[in-house]
Amino acid sequence: MATIKTENMEHIRSEQLYAEACEIIPCGVSSSMRKNVKPLLFFERAEGPYYFDVDGNRYIDYTLAWGPLIAGSNHPFINKAVAEQLQRSYTLGAQHPLEVTLAKKLTGILPGVEQVAFSNTGSEAVQSAIRIARTYTGRNKIVKFEGHYHGWLNNVLVSYKPQPAQLGTPVASCGGQPAPEFEDTLVLPWNNLAAVKELLAARGHEIACVITEPVLANSGCCMPEEGYLQGIIDCCREHGVVSVFDEVITGFRLALGGAREYFGLRPDLSVYAKAIAGGFTMAALGGRKAVFDVIREGKTIHAGTYNGASVNLAAALATITVLSGDGCFTRLHAYGHALREHLQLAARKAGLLLVTAGTGSVFSMHFGLREEPRNYADTLAADAALFAKFRALMLHEGIHLLPDGRWYIGITHTDAELAFTRQAIDNTFAGLAG
Ligand code: PLP
Repeated sequence: MATIKTENMEHIRSEQLYAEACEIIPCGVSSSMRKNVKPLLFFERAEGPYYFDVDGNRYIDYTLAWGPLIAGSNHPFINKAVAEQLQRSYTLGAQHPLEVTLAKKLTGILPGVEQVAFSNTGSEAVQSAIRIARTYTGRNKIVKFEGHYHGWLNNVLVSYKPQPAQLGTPVASCGGQPAPEFEDTLVLPWNNLAAVKELLAARGHEIACVITEPVLANSGCCMPEEGYLQGIIDCCREHGVVSVFDEVITGFRLALGGAREYFGLRPDLSVYAKAIAGGFTMAALGGRKAVFDVIREGKTIHAGTYNGASVNLAAALATITVLSGDGCFTRLHAYGHALREHLQLAARKAGLLLVTAGTGSVFSMHFGLREEPRNYADTLAADAALFAKFRALMLHEGIHLLPDGRWYIGITHTDAELAFTRQAIDNTFAGLAG
């Protein structure tokens, strides 16, 4: 087998493990989203902002495990909280005082959130939001947007990355998604308020909820246009539809209070996961008490063996304490801004078209575009092959990036990592130009 070898970096052990894994794990990975990451590296440990692979290479990591590691790895305060909790209990399948502590904390931090329900993953919490919205409204249809990701289940993995010819109609995103399982899912292009208004005016009486990522982080980090998100909330209210913001990425990232705080919005329900517990398995659904009342009234259920597992509650509380530190989000935003400026400067110098989109500590880079994409369809014009080349060169400079052009910044990225990354960007653009 050929080994990936450059002057200073080898991935021999990763290649061996990948070959072994492919024999006994489908595609050799534990989530299909990871199968497009090339080369497929195996990591043995992580420390602060660094990942260490099994061949002894060190990388500054900007994947943050696809978002959760906002406080980096091996954070002493989070470790201590988790270690102490481990001595007392892992999970109980029963109530724990930390549930109340965390719920109080969340209702204090997240504007307009009156109650929270704990879950484990974003996918599960999204399903709970949809079920609650359906019970509350007595309607079945849900509205989602092209390019948005709300987990891997059949009713929402619809028009996630459609081909250009598939735009405009709800389409399955993988095999094993029978059409009847998403016939209640209506799909619209994003950042087009007129389309939402038109659909809700015509079919609002059938629609339980509209679900949206507040920043389209899963497809190019497109930003919402002025008034768009508030427009969705208002339109939903007018038609008795539940507004659901999927804050799995934006929560505890745009600001401590997520998109609710950052954009000053109060949707009916919001879904949190990823950064909420700094890398431990935790999700939460937050929103208006009147909507959650369908659970109290016994009209529906919200369930899960591991919901409210004590060790994850401890991790979430510790992560939120760390993120509550003075100037934390200002620093995250400044770092993201500095990186984007440097990328754009380096691209200009190299004579390459590049735009970046997003905000603060989550942004995407798009080669070949002149303007920030407004929605998923706009991202299709970007030069993905050039980004793949960029990513491969950056990896050999010791920078670990996601395969889709998205960058995540965490609090352990400091001036030293910024300086190193700027140099790596310069070297990489020199390589691309040559
Ligand atoms: N919602 C959004 C916006 C996400 O980005 C993701 C995962 O990336 C999910 C939901 C699903 O979360 P999980 O992977 O924890 O099930």
